[in-house]
Amino acid sequence: METESTCGKCGGSDLHAGTLDAFQPIIFRPTGPNEFLPRSVTVLATLCAGCGEITVHADAGSLRAFHTKP
Ligand SMILES: [Zn+2]
Repeated sequence: METESTCGKCGGSDLHAGTLDAFQPIIFRPTGPNEFLPRSVTVLATLCAGCGEITVHADAGSLRAFHTKP
């Protein structure tokens, strides 16, 4: 997934890519009954240094794997 080049809140362009970590990156794990487990999607983040807005999005590689049936 392509990262936005400007902040959706303030329009600033001083954006920094990163992850939201505790000790490991945060992952999205589906909980629906029809989901194929274990499937998870790594969550990446972008910080706007202008206003502090943090946006999150799925890592493209793990998102592709999410759609692949076992
Ligand atoms: Zn901003």
